[in-house]
Amino acid sequence: MKPIEEIYPLLRTPRKVVVTMHQKPDPDAMGSSLALAGVLVQLGHDVTVISPTNWPDFLKWMPGSKKVIDYEAAREKGNAALELAEWVFCLDFNALYRTKHMAAKLAALSCVKVLIDHHEQPETQAFDYGISLTSKSSTSEMVYDFITGSGNEALINKEVAACLYAGIIGDTGSFRFPSTSPHVHEMVADLKRKGLDHAIVHENLYDNFLEDRLRFIGHVLLNRMEIFYEYNTALIAIPKSDLIKFNIKTGDTEGLVNYPLTIQGIKLAGLVIDRDEERKWSFRSKGNVDVNTFARKYFNGGGHFNASGGRSADSLQTTVQLFKKAIKENASQLQ
Ligand code: 5GP
Ligand code: MN
Repeated sequence: MKPIEEIYPLLRTPRKVVVTMHQKPDPDAMGSSLALAGVLVQLGHDVTVISPTNWPDFLKWMPGSKKVIDYEAAREKGNAALELAEWVFCLDFNALYRTKHMAAKLAALSCVKVLIDHHEQPETQAFDYGISLTSKSSTSEMVYDFITGSGNEALINKEVAACLYAGIIGDTGSFRFPSTSPHVHEMVADLKRKGLDHAIVHENLYDNFLEDRLRFIGHVLLNRMEIFYEYNTALIAIPKSDLIKFNIKTGDTEGLVNYPLTIQGIKLAGLVIDRDEERKWSFRSKGNVDVNTFARKYFNGGGHFNASGGRSADSLQTTVQLFKKAIKENASQLQ
């Protein structure tokens, strides 16, 4: 993978471009992709944004989101754009499998692939150009660096700023996680000067749910959370019946994994949801508990040191048993 700076001079020639992100995109994946697309369009490129799957309703306010292709729902349209693309930008993921059904198609493309990402252990051999910095708060921060570094700062308008800001607050927990560097605050100050309305972005992301979702959170915290004080660990396991009962949609469970970390002393939180095709895990930790390694070792996943995900083909009960075994094996790190 060659350094991303090498494509800066090439940006002046208009090209057919696809921008894509990880499946079930979060504010950082969708925000960074739409911000990059917003700037590339102004540079004269023909840009298509593709998400490997659908995305939560709370991202649908984002400028440009209506034109995003859902690859799972419109595979032929997605393939047509990918086959024409001269460049494919891959944002906010470290391994092609994170694009689900798109992964094989991406791997087979012979066009130029560019990675911008902040996850651990990237598959750098899969990309021609790119940048991977685990120290960065978010891919949105890295897209801001890409835009300013390539001399295109003047193209950051209100819409681009709103997308970048959504990604930053999503991945920094609204400026509370350790990755929130001085540069993050400087960038946001710059976005404010460029016309960012930050309060609206917070409302759009966090005050935009249906009653069902709040009732569901109440139910889950009361009935589905187990605490293992001897391991400073909490577990939430959600059966499919709960998802049906509360009419839970994509995105409604976002953020749920953070609640157990508000309990004094809890260092590791695991959340597992019984989805149709697999059991999907989320892990969050505090301090020196490494959930990237934990997710890789036990749950076919990965991510960041303090935030990761994984999956299992086993039943909910079986994968929960594995979690309990895993925390015992990691007792020394957790105590
Ligand atoms: P979340 O719990 O919000 O789904 O994911 C937490 C972090 O881990 C995100 O940065 C996400 O991209 C990453 N992540 C989630 N699931 C997986 C996975 O299965 N594999 C890898 N490599 N990363 C994941
Ligand atoms: Mn991210």
